Amino acid sequence: MSHAYGAIIATSPLEKLTIQRRAVGQHDIKIDIAYCGVCHSDIHQVRSEWEGTQYPCVPGHEIVGRVSEIGEHVSKFKIGDLVGVGCIVDSCRHCADCEEGLENYCDNMIGTYNFPTPDAPGYTLGGYSQNIVVNENYVLKIKHNEQQLAEVAPLLCAGITTYSPLRHWSAGPGKKVGIVGIGGLGHMGIKLAHAMGAYVVAFTTSKSKKQEALSLGANEVVISKDVNEMATHQRSFDLIVNTVAASHNLDIYTQLLKRDGTLTLVGAPASPHQSPNVMNLIMKRRSIAGSMIGSIAETQEMLDFCAEHNIVADIELIAANEINTAYERMLKGDIKYRFVIDNQTLTE
Ligand code: NAP
Ligand code: ZN
Ligand code: ZN
Repeated sequence: MSHAYGAIIATSPLEKLTIQRRAVGQHDIKIDIAYCGVCHSDIHQVRSEWEGTQYPCVPGHEIVGRVSEIGEHVSKFKIGDLVGVGCIVDSCRHCADCEEGLENYCDNMIGTYNFPTPDAPGYTLGGYSQNIVVNENYVLKIKHNEQQLAEVAPLLCAGITTYSPLRHWSAGPGKKVGIVGIGGLGHMGIKLAHAMGAYVVAFTTSKSKKQEALSLGANEVVISKDVNEMATHQRSFDLIVNTVAASHNLDIYTQLLKRDGTLTLVGAPASPHQSPNVMNLIMKRRSIAGSMIGSIAETQEMLDFCAEHNIVADIELIAANEINTAYERMLKGDIKYRFVIDNQTLTE
């Protein structure tokens, strides 16, 4: 049995629950979860904003903790190891995407919560819980110091979701990179793009974040509602990664791209963006793209990169029973920059 927090229906606050985990199989490891980050996707999911949520729903896919049990054929981990689990706990393992090591694009990827599984109750349950059982091939090694563990948790989703497009579109020295929305994902995007050597411009709707975003590693911070400020960046970006969790006008960003520049959307709002102005794209061969978390191998690469560059998330640690207030604050943009649950408080 595992104490957990979850939602019984879309419109109810999260509450204390108890759940069962499967017995540890030959290739599985059991993890005692120390901390779990709070992603905006958790809110979309528990409130069924993307539809299809099954209840009770236990969210959470920024999981860190220690291995407490291993199956007899486990070769990569031993009891006591510091490990992480992100958004993926399984995939089909044989499609073209899986063969290429891109299981995040597998049509049958199994997400950490709300995806089909033979385990009770028939769909996966996430990290707002005391423990989790996962096949070892979907578990990550953590090389940061143990004292940093809570701050490492958000790397498992916010970190990889921004790292992957920055790498794919070659953020680095000589490149001008924009990060839109300074929330959980965005603040990681700023830190990572800066560490990769790019010139980083952060776009925010919150004046209160302007100064602090500079200390995260942004070279400039632009208030996206300020038309004049936006105009000074026309046709200058190689890449803009947009993390905003709500629908908005994308044209104000496509205009800022150079010829052949790319606006990559990672924010997944419940309602669609208005159609972009096609002429803006045609006239400069610009692209609008999307990007989905990152593969297991790339997540390990990102964790190692962060350990090497001493990068962690800026967090506010909360007790499990503060989760509903945390959601309300996230919806107002009132968070710098990621809530992380102390899973020891799940029993309180
Ligand atoms: P978050 O912490 O709530 O940050 C979102 C930020 O967007 C806010 O802090 C805010 O930044 C900005 N924003 C501007 N207008 C907004 C509005 N009307 N409503 C909400 N935010 C607004 O969220 P997150 O955890 O970073 O997640 C961001 C989005 O990415 C979510 O939609 C999430 O589901 C999605 N996501 C996608 C993937 C993927 O694989 N593609 C993975 C993880 C998450 P400013 O105050 O700076 O304007
Ligand atoms: Zn997430
Ligand atoms: Zn597959």
